[in-house]
Order: sequence, then C-alpha cells, then structure tokens
Amino acid sequence: MRPPLVVGNWKMHGSTASIANLLEDLKAGLTDLDKVTVSVCAPFVYIGQVAASLQGTKVQWGAQNLCDHEQGAYTGEISASMLSDLGCRYVIIGHSERRTLYAEDNRLIAAKYQLAQREGVTPILCVGESLEQREAGDTLSWIEQQLMAVIDAVGAEGLRGAVLAYEPIWAIGTGKTASPEQAQQVHAHIRKVLVAIDDSLAQTIQILYGGSVKADNAKELFEQQDIDGALVGGASLNAEEFAAIVKAAK
Ligand code: PEP
Repeated sequence: MRPPLVVGNWKMHGSTASIANLLEDLKAGLTDLDKVTVSVCAPFVYIGQVAASLQGTKVQWGAQNLCDHEQGAYTGEISASMLSDLGCRYVIIGHSERRTLYAEDNRLIAAKYQLAQREGVTPILCVGESLEQREAGDTLSWIEQQLMAVIDAVGAEGLRGAVLAYEPIWAIGTGKTASPEQAQQVHAHIRKVLVAIDDSLAQTIQILYGGSVKADNAKELFEQQDIDGALVGGASLNAEEFAAIVKAAK
C-alpha cells in the first residue's frame, strides 16, 4: 500500500571526485529497485553532476533546502524552479539542522514547502523533538505542532503526495537510534493525527524515520507498521552501507 522510500542526505560533504566515485558505487550496488524508491539529496553545487550521472537509472535525486521566495534579488539562494529545472524529485524541508543552526521557523518552512510543491518537487517535511522535549514527555505534542503548522498553511490536500520524516534531533548524527518501538510510537501518532483530518491521506502518505539509520538497525525499523522508509545521513555516504539499507527496505 505504501511503497518504501529510502533517501540519502549527503549534507555538506563531498567533492566532484568523491561524488563521482560514490555515484559509480551506488549505481553498481543499487540493483533491483522495482520494490523501493531511492533518492539522494546532494549539495546544490553537485546536483547537476548527480543528475547527469543518474539520468536513465532508477535512482532519483534531490536537494537539501530551497529558498522561500520564487525568484529575484535573494543573493546566494536557490529557488524551487531551479531544483525542478535540474530534475530534482525531492527536497528536504525543515531538517533539524536548518531549524536549529539557521533559525528556520514553521512559517519559513511552510513557505518553502508550498513553493516546492508548486514546482512539482516533492517536499520531505522533517519533524522531530530534542532530547529535553523527549525527557519532558513533550514529544508527541511537539511533533503535532510542527506538522499542524504546515497543514494550517497548505491544508490537508497540500500534504497529498508529500513525504514526512520523523527525525528525533537526539538521534541525528549521534549514533544513537530511536528504538523501533520509540520510532513506531511517533509514526503511529503522526498517522493518527492525519486520520482525523483525512483518512485516505493518512493511509497513503509515506513517513520516513531518520536518525543514525545503518545497515544493522534498518531491518527492525522497517518492520514497524508505520515506518515506510528512511532518511539516511552519515550512512548514505557509504555506497555499501546505503545499498544494505535499501535492501532492508525492499
Ligand atoms: C539526517 O541528516 O537526516 C540524518 C538522519 O543523519 P544521520 O543518519 O547521520 O543521523
């Protein structure tokens, strides 16, 4: 019912040479992709290189961010239409590194989300709690608040075709993964919130888990009922590791 999706977030890593190698290894390692969708989200400056290399393969590509304006005098920014022009299938929006390091708030995130959708680039909307929020028992209400901020801006219809990613901040890049039960609890809650708004949307929307996903913990995460794939940071820079995660998702 919900086909699995595995997305690599390369963050600010790589060079022309290292990305060429990684792409060759990925193309060799990622075979038999009929049952799973795979994408890599590259740094802006390498998206053209990635597109040229992955053109004609079953591996999709995308970006890690975009501007909250359509076009114009926004020095240093990249628009949704530019991502679309480069064939980006996905764009990550609201990653916790952008929320915390670049002070992106829900208003900005909703604006980016709308522009991506308008250009046909599928938003991967990230939500997640800090360790303090988890310890205070605020996880579910916080996640709901982040989700509702976008739903308030785009409506339930605006979520159709999008992808959600639950990424507990304390698990990102720390090697500390949420247990399958912890992740499932939040994923099930997100789906429950959506059921109350639109049942068919809730049943079809893909909810990815992100936070130190690796080859050796992917399978048990993917076995959870409401986990439809993964957003993978560090491990996506290693073709063998990433291919093993993709295999676990099939
Ligand atoms: C991420 O960057 O979205 C992420 C989940 O990173 P990592 O897999 O390295 O924790």
